[in-house]
Amino acid sequence: MKKYCEECGKDVNTTVVLREEEYNVCGEKIAVEARVMTCCECGEEFYNEELDNETLVNAYNIYRQRHRLLMPDEIKQIREQYGLSQRSFAKLLNWGDKTIHRYENGSLQDKAHNSMLLFLREPMNMADYLAENEVGLDSAQKEKLQHRLVELEGTKENRIGSKLLDVLLRKEPCIENGFKSFDYEKFYASVLFFANKCDELLKVKLLKLLNYSDTIFYKENGISITGTQYVHLPYGPVPEHYDVLFGLMEAQNIITISINFENGYEKHHVLPMTSDYMNILSQEEIEVMTRVYNKFVNFGSVEISNYSHEEVGYKETQKGEIISYNYAKDIVLERS
Ligand SMILES: [Zn+2]
Repeated sequence: MKKYCEECGKDVNTTVVLREEEYNVCGEKIAVEARVMTCCECGEEFYNEELDNETLVNAYNIYRQRHRLLMPDEIKQIREQYGLSQRSFAKLLNWGDKTIHRYENGSLQDKAHNSMLLFLREPMNMADYLAENEVGLDSAQKEKLQHRLVELEGTKENRIGSKLLDVLLRKEPCIENGFKSFDYEKFYASVLFFANKCDELLKVKLLKLLNYSDTIFYKENGISITGTQYVHLPYGPVPEHYDVLFGLMEAQNIITISINFENGYEKHHVLPMTSDYMNILSQEEIEVMTRVYNKFVNFGSVEISNYSHEEVGYKETQKGEIISYNYAKDIVLERS
């Protein structure tokens, strides 16, 4: 950028240099790295509104970090999670029209406003606030916000679900999970794939189909589909914590399990509640699962259990042990 330099008495080229500066924020000295525009020839500094403003916001942000105040981005996130515009969020809070706009653009918020925003970050608090206060929103805006709060309550349940999975199943990629951290989405999509394809799919059979899909995909691609670890149980290899996973899928209306009694035995059928899973799985994954489906389509759950008992990985492990994907190399769908 060219600029007139009074020292040099002519138009000169400019350059931006870094310099340590000290700002006074609420009576506190804040050292901040400033970008300053200078004359290329004599080093004279020029005032530049944009750079100056950037430095000020940086100084504010350092102050914010020091005092645990919300950052501009966090304020924006709080507003956006409720689907509110800057203006209607300000109205809701009975603050000045421009207040939220200024905070999101870097102006320093006052401490009382900060506490209020922190409080309202939690949807349950927002619901209380909305119920107990006269707010400046019209009835349509209010209704929209209430609707959003119901949605957020739902995603909160999902968050709790995923925290549970984190605790139970999260693990770095390694040979036991087929070099993939557990992927719940892929897991339930695989369940839905088979549940949608088979009538009267028994849970015991499904667990084996998942095992074959993961291990064969691993054998051919060096990575599993779902990141599931499979455990050696008396009736074959099963996904670790499958009972929790099936409980979660039921709670989220992904599947239902219907239990029938036949000849004194409980039979658990897995029924899909949705067929919306195709875009979660890749073409390659679907291709492998289709091969597994075709191979076992006429197998009953006893037959497929017996079949899986013959796998090397199953024979070489003890009850309760994880069956490493190392054994996948021995798996073949067509045994000679
Ligand atoms: Zn100059």
